[in-house]
Amino acid sequence: MTCVTCGKDLLPDEIGATKKLVNRGATEFYCLDCLSKRFDVPRQRLEQKIEEWRSMGCLLFEQK
Ligand SMILES: [Zn+2]
Repeated sequence: MTCVTCGKDLLPDEIGATKKLVNRGATEFYCLDCLSKRFDVPRQRLEQKIEEWRSMGCLLFEQK
């Protein structure tokens, strides 16, 4: 799975973040840098949100 904008290989967390931010049925995925540009949110903020979602037990994110 690669980012539809820049072609970078995606991490599972980036796929999960796309599903959260776009919708669960998303078929095109973005890396954090492209999500950050698309939604005009700082990348660091997205990383915080991923940790929040993970800590809430969201199954879109691998539990550490
Ligand atoms: Zn990208």
